[in-house]
Amino acid sequence: MSTVDLVVKNGRVVTEGGIFHGGVAIDRGKIICVGSDIHLPSADRVIDAKENYVMPGLIDPHTHPGKRDFFTDVRNESLVGAVGGITTMGAIVKSSRMGVGWTDKSPTPVSYRKVFPAMKDELNKVLGIDLYFNFAIVTDEQAREIPLYAKEYGVTSFKFYLGYMGGDAASRKAGLGNFSSRLGLPDGFDDGTVYLGFKKIAETGPPCIAHIHAENMPIVRIFFEEIMKEGRCDLAAWNRRSPPFCEAHHIHSYSYLAKITGCPLYVVHLSTAEGLDEVVKAKNDGVRIVAETGPQWLIIDSHDDPPGSLGKVNPPIRDSRAHEALWWGLKGGHVKCLGTDHVPNLPDQCHGDLLVTPDTEIFKGTGAVGMQTMFPAIFTYGVLGGKISLEELVNSCAANNAKAAGLYPMKGTLSPGADGDVVVMDPKTPKKVDESTIHSKANAFFRGRELRGWPVTTILRGQMVFDGGEITGKPGVGHYLPRTLGTPNLV
Ligand SMILES: [Zn+2]
Repeated sequence: MSTVDLVVKNGRVVTEGGIFHGGVAIDRGKIICVGSDIHLPSADRVIDAKENYVMPGLIDPHTHPGKRDFFTDVRNESLVGAVGGITTMGAIVKSSRMGVGWTDKSPTPVSYRKVFPAMKDELNKVLGIDLYFNFAIVTDEQAREIPLYAKEYGVTSFKFYLGYMGGDAASRKAGLGNFSSRLGLPDGFDDGTVYLGFKKIAETGPPCIAHIHAENMPIVRIFFEEIMKEGRCDLAAWNRRSPPFCEAHHIHSYSYLAKITGCPLYVVHLSTAEGLDEVVKAKNDGVRIVAETGPQWLIIDSHDDPPGSLGKVNPPIRDSRAHEALWWGLKGGHVKCLGTDHVPNLPDQCHGDLLVTPDTEIFKGTGAVGMQTMFPAIFTYGVLGGKISLEELVNSCAANNAKAAGLYPMKGTLSPGADGDVVVMDPKTPKKVDESTIHSKANAFFRGRELRGWPVTTILRGQMVFDGGEITGKPGVGHYLPRTLGTPNLV
C-alpha cells in the first residue's frame, strides 16, 4: 500500500462492535483502513495514541449558536467543540437569528429562503468543525417550505418549540416576560403549524425528522405561580415548577400526531422517567420515535443545587429518580442519542437582561455550555460509574447521532469511506472543570467537578483541530453539511 496522509496507531480502537488494539489510516480526508498496527499503511504523519482510546469524532446534535452575533458564536463554540472531541455540531437556529445577534429587537420570523443562502457562504469561513442545521419551524409558510429546505439546502431536521408556541402573550402570562421573542417566535404558532410541519416532513421522507421540545408551559405557569408565592429561587424550585408530567403530556400528545401524520419524531433533551415511559409506549404503538438526553439531566441533582442559578435550564435539571430512569433508557436503547443543549450565554447575559422580569430572582441565570464536557462527564459518571459501556457511550455520541441526522455512514463511524474524524481520548488523567480547562467564555455545567475521559487529539477530515491542550484548527476548516434525501435515519 502506498503512503497515506495520516495514521493514528497504538491505540485502543472503539468501534460500534467492540474494542481492539490498533489504529486508523486517513487519506485525503477519508478513513481508508482500520485495523491492528501491522496492517496500517505507512504515512506522512504518524500519531502515537499511547494506548489511549481511539474513537470516531463525536456529534453534538443539539447546540444553540446565535446568542451573541451568530457568526461569532459559531466560530467560538465550534472551536470549543473540537476541544470536547466533537467534530460535527447540529445547530438549532431560527430564521430571525441567522446572522443577527442576541440584542436584535425585531425578531420576526421569515422564510429561510430569505436568510439561508447568504448565510451559508459566510458560515463556511468561520466554522471550526462541521455543522448541520435544525431549522426552527414557527410559521405556516416555513412548514409549507419544508420540502424545499430539504431539497435545496439539505436541511432535513426541524425543531418545534412546543413549550413556547403560545408566543409572548403566553410567556408574559407565565411570568416569563417576552421570552418567546428571545427565541425568535414573538407571535407563537399553533397546532395547525405543527400538523402542517409534521405532514410535510412525512411527505418529504427520510432523513426528514421533527425535533420537539416537550414541556407544557401553560401548565408550568400554574406551578410557577406557587413557587413565586413561596419566594423560592433555588434549583429544586426550578425543577418543581415544571413537573415531569408536563414533559410526558407533550410526548404523549405529539406522538399521537406523529402517528396520524406518519412523521418521525425526535424528542430533544428527555429529562424524566415519565417522559421516557411515553417514548417507550409510543414506540410500542408503532410511532417512529427516538429520544435524546444530555449530561446535565443524567448527572446533576437539583437538590444539591450547584451549579445553582447557572443550572436553570429548560427542561429543568431533575433528580436521582430521573437519573436512574435515563441511565436505564440509555443502557436499554430507549434513549439513543446524547446532546448538550449548548447555550453560550455569557455571564452578563444571565442576569436581568435574559429573563426580563427584574424582580424575579428565580430567573437569574439560564443556559450553559456543555460541548467540552459532554464526553468526559458521561465517561466519568456513566462508564467509570458502571452505568453503560464505553461502546454504548460512543454509539450514543457518534453513530446514533449520525444516523438520527441522516449523516451515517459519512459521520459517526470508524469505517473505510467515512470522513476522517477521529478522537484520541485519555481515560486516566483527571481534570477539574474550571476557567483553566473550559475554553468557552460562557457558563459551563459541571464547574468544580473533576472529570476523566478528556480528548487529547481531535482530527477533522484528516486535519488536527485540537492537540496537546491547544486548539490547532482554524476558523474555516469546518464545512456546512447538507444532507441527502433518501438517506435512512434511525427511526
Ligand atoms: Zn435546546
